[in-house]
Amino acid sequence: MDSQWRQLAQWIGQSNRIVFFGGAGVSTESGIPDFRGAKGFFHQDREIPIERVLSIDFFETHPQAYWEWFAQENAREGVAPNAAHRFLAELEKRGSLSAVVTQNIDGLHQSAGSERIFELHGNWSRLLCTGCGRRFSIADFEEARTGAVPRCPSCACVVRPDIVFYGEMLGSGVLEGAVRAIADADMLIVAGTSLVVYPAAGLVDYYDGDRLVLMNATPTPYDSRANLVIRDPVGKVFAELARAV
Ligand code: NAD
Repeated sequence: MDSQWRQLAQWIGQSNRIVFFGGAGVSTESGIPDFRGAKGFFHQDREIPIERVLSIDFFETHPQAYWEWFAQENAREGVAPNAAHRFLAELEKRGSLSAVVTQNIDGLHQSAGSERIFELHGNWSRLLCTGCGRRFSIADFEEARTGAVPRCPSCACVVRPDIVFYGEMLGSGVLEGAVRAIADADMLIVAGTSLVVYPAAGLVDYYDGDRLVLMNATPTPYDSRANLVIRDPVGKVFAELARAV
């Protein structure tokens, strides 16, 4: 095993309040593109830029664009938790990981079995009515998987995903929970995030221990603060660690 991976494995073995803070790069090996990575959404030639499709102003006037994008994303075959999601769920079961903080909306940490998750930007499988606030699951609206705009059976208003669109505030309860978990962590693993989206990126500042691991394919503004920087794919690293730790 590579010496950096060995160091990571050793710290994981010695820690019992690990927090994992991840971004879109954690799910690229599951088949979901990130935003800023080499094959990310920002580099795709799209009629409507993704940041517009995912902004609240645009959703309010063009909900169809979001639901068409959602249908396209959900048509991808073989999307499932990868070795990183699975290993984190395993660490939680063993009692050494206290929380997963994620910027992802894809729900893959839940699918892998993680339970203590702070989803900073929500989850696209949870839905709510824009009129009466009634809550739903994506399973209640199979038509949404074909791009049709789901409507509330109670009041007929448009149903939206329970995600934080650009232009919206993060939920204060989720943010406070994530801050508390990170401030209390004895190891912080930050992975698959460019650390440029705020306020999420600023969460790293709440960790003041000496086991800050930054695992990202490309440089981030926080690399110089990390105790260990790893550039290898997060799923590949965790697949190896699952065998070793
Ligand atoms: P980002 O696209 O800005 O950055 C992803 C980073 O991960 C890049 O620096 C890239 O080099 C790196 N990366 C990609 N694959 C990797 C891998 N296998 N191993 C290691 N590093 C890898 O993503 P972000 O920082 O999370 O910010 C984007 C925002 O977009 C987030 O708020 C998130 O909500 C949203 N988003 C979510 C999903 C999802 O739910 N899966 C997908 C795309 C975007």
